[in-house]
Amino acid sequence: MASEGQQGNGRRGRPLWAEIDLDALAHNVRALKSLAGGAELAAVVKANAYGHGAVGAGRAALEAGADRLAVICVEEGEQLRQAGIEAPILVMGYTPLGEERRIIELRLTPTVNSRDQAEALAAAAVEAGVVQAVHVKVDTGLNRFGLRPPEAIALAGWIRDVPSLQLEGLFTHFANADEGDKSYTLEQYRAFTQTAERLPWVPLRHVSNTANLLDMPEMSLDLVRPGIGIFGCYPAGNRRSSAELRPVLSLRSRIVRLSPLPAGETVSYGRTWRAERPSLIGLVTCGYGDGLPRVLSNRGSLLVRGRRVPIVGRVCMDMSMADVTDVPEVAEGDEVTIIGRDGEGQITAEEIGELCGTISYEILCGIAARVPRLFLRQGQVIGAETLVHKPAEEASVQAW
Ligand SMILES: *Cc1c(COP(=O)(O)O)cnc(C)c1O
Repeated sequence: MASEGQQGNGRRGRPLWAEIDLDALAHNVRALKSLAGGAELAAVVKANAYGHGAVGAGRAALEAGADRLAVICVEEGEQLRQAGIEAPILVMGYTPLGEERRIIELRLTPTVNSRDQAEALAAAAVEAGVVQAVHVKVDTGLNRFGLRPPEAIALAGWIRDVPSLQLEGLFTHFANADEGDKSYTLEQYRAFTQTAERLPWVPLRHVSNTANLLDMPEMSLDLVRPGIGIFGCYPAGNRRSSAELRPVLSLRSRIVRLSPLPAGETVSYGRTWRAERPSLIGLVTCGYGDGLPRVLSNRGSLLVRGRRVPIVGRVCMDMSMADVTDVPEVAEGDEVTIIGRDGEGQITAEEIGELCGTISYEILCGIAARVPRLFLRQGQVIGAETLVHKPAEEASVQAW
């Protein structure tokens, strides 16, 4: 039976919540950091920390030993600063021109991708009277974002001579880090190190996401950038688990209505499921509007009283139905585990990703903002992030 009542029966509100196990997160940060040897660890908390709640997860990662945080855009950095997080924050993605003053005010570390951007940032830094740290991304074969080695070397050289800028980091990102065949990764790594050798004065060189850190810890260089591993998932295809990671997120709901259904009746839109026997159907308050993919209609399963039960009929925006006929003593109010453990049963984000033809990342990122995040330590709720309460607010726990 699932752990009772992080969201007890006395709680107000719709019975659907995500439990974020901060002890598991801390364990993962420590495990990944020890794999990285002496390298710094930047916890990647983009996309609301892969659905886990950026502020709560970011804070916990720093407490567990992460040296800095990494995000994709300025606004994600701003959210962390507004919550009072002081650690360095690397903005790894594309930043348009015009964001320079905001970057400086928020003390973010952007990835500079053009001479224009470097000039604008340098001018804004002079105006503010600061030296602005920046990183340069080298595109070594992902062919997505970053500068080709010759351009990266040229821009780095230009930045070196600008007193208001400091080129703190040089990095690249791998195309195939989660595959067993490491030949392309080695090619990219060689292109990166050849570039870095031309710029030996840059203090932080970094290449590793979770998959590469797990498989090739010898490439940790000065800093590693794990994301999914912090949240306890192994990257797609990564079977060589050199670290034991613990899933951080559980998504839970309750059976809010239990309906006996005569044989021959159908369930949900489109009448895609028909009862072949007299059945008991549990109504669950979670749908695709919460992040439960609609392709799980008649395919996915849920856990009730530690048992797997099939999702029957179409998943709707706000609700879904499960056939709970075979669950002894099933009752209205029973907890339903959509992702996570319940007794002997477990459904992982990886499993759901595979069923949906995607990866755990997309399942986790897809958990909607209206699903409250409860932050747990030793099984106790110590904070909550909801549509209306930020984790910084004392009120968040009481409100829960
Ligand atoms: C998202 C991202 C990461 C983290 O990747 P994981 O596979 O989640 O570990 C690292 N580096 C960059 C540039 C990223 O965009």
